[in-house]
Amino acid sequence: MRKPYHTAAFRLTRCLALIQSVGLVLFLSADGACSRTQVAHGPYQEIVRELREAGLAGERGFELLERITSVGPRLTGSPEAAAAVDLSLRLMNEMGFSQVHAEPVEVARWVRGDVAEAVIAASGTRQSIPLSVCALGGSVGTPEGGITAPVVEVRSLDELSLEDRSFEGKIVFFNRPMDRRLTDPFAAYGGAAAPRGGGGAAAARRGAVAVLVRSLTFRVDRNPHTGMMRYDPGVPRIPAAAVSTADAEALSALINKEGDVSVSLRMNCRDMGRVMSANVVGELTGVEFPRQVILLGGHLDSWDLAVGAHDDAAGCVAALEALRLIRELGLRPKRTIRAVLFMDEEFGGTGGRAYVRAPQRKGERHLVAAESDRGGFAPVGLAVGRTILRKVSSYADLFRPLGVSFIVAGGGGVDVAPLIEGGAAPAAVILNAQAYFDVHHSALDVVASVHPRELELQAVILAALAVILAQEGT
Ligand SMILES: [Zn+2]
Repeated sequence: MRKPYHTAAFRLTRCLALIQSVGLVLFLSADGACSRTQVAHGPYQEIVRELREAGLAGERGFELLERITSVGPRLTGSPEAAAAVDLSLRLMNEMGFSQVHAEPVEVARWVRGDVAEAVIAASGTRQSIPLSVCALGGSVGTPEGGITAPVVEVRSLDELSLEDRSFEGKIVFFNRPMDRRLTDPFAAYGGAAAPRGGGGAAAARRGAVAVLVRSLTFRVDRNPHTGMMRYDPGVPRIPAAAVSTADAEALSALINKEGDVSVSLRMNCRDMGRVMSANVVGELTGVEFPRQVILLGGHLDSWDLAVGAHDDAAGCVAALEALRLIRELGLRPKRTIRAVLFMDEEFGGTGGRAYVRAPQRKGERHLVAAESDRGGFAPVGLAVGRTILRKVSSYADLFRPLGVSFIVAGGGGVDVAPLIEGGAAPAAVILNAQAYFDVHHSALDVVASVHPRELELQAVILAALAVILAQEGT
């Protein structure tokens, strides 16, 4: 019979200690003893197996997702975002992380209000037609009676600036679909996102009174998808709304058929100034180089149309669950593995910038900054910075059984961008995210759209990557 102290955690700790002290390639034999072997990555193979078995045995990652989303949508600056900060501190303490604390971030507070209505005005014998819309983040509201104006359809910001048509007093309708022919949904999103962010300012410069922007999703349905928009100084602030893809197509067809089409838009969203919020930080402190950090991050804030289960509660869970798995196996790598739940990715990225400026960063060096912000879907690959690509690729055989069939140069994101500028190598698990934009920034981003095992696998991969890099360095 096995002695009680021969737990998996005990054995793995012993192996990590041996890797540290003698630098030998070791593996665990069936009775739990470490011995020399020709098999490369032997001890890590055992560690990765243990991480996988511990992770996939239950649905603890998914339960974490349910807890984080239980506070509701976590729009930056909202009471729910504040509740999420408190909850995250509690969760990290419950899970036994070290140095658990909040770091202050000043953020913008904006509220959607309770009115977002748009109607195609009746014309001749045709009745009025309602459009499914939502305010874009940061938009001003309309006057109380709304804005009614003729609609002009354009495809892009370029088309708006080159057109010699008049946009004076009009509602500009940006009908730019995501390019369905691309394999990579993020490339399709990136290619179509410019009118959402900059369309309001560009249209106002041409004298427009409001903008409608086609929602960024491949699906043709009636769910509007929000997202951030920004104004330019010195240009009038006009209301900006996202319109669902189905309604964008209907509106476009009607403009083609009838020529003159007017829309009435009414919204009561508004700016509420600035408030204090926080990033949430917790770690497994490195036993040899505590100031050298492998960071795993996601963003705690979300949009307000749903609880942001994929975007980005899933990323927060991936980071938290990875640290919990490592800790529970009793692994104590040389360098610090840190989970950071960033505030305000969606509404300005202030959390990522505040993190690098925080006094706690003094004397710290971030070797790797992994950001999970592409949902909780099934992992298919790994993306890491060029400086660590060769090293991580040498462990490809360990990641393959976790669903990682390729390792490429890449990674990064809004929250870790300042760290990467400072020299940290980016890293990210690549997911099969074809369905991501179906739910992204919409009322469909709910817990039921995340699969427990897909989410957990992301955490297991991050845990394995973090242990190897924290032990081996970069
Ligand atoms: Zn996100």
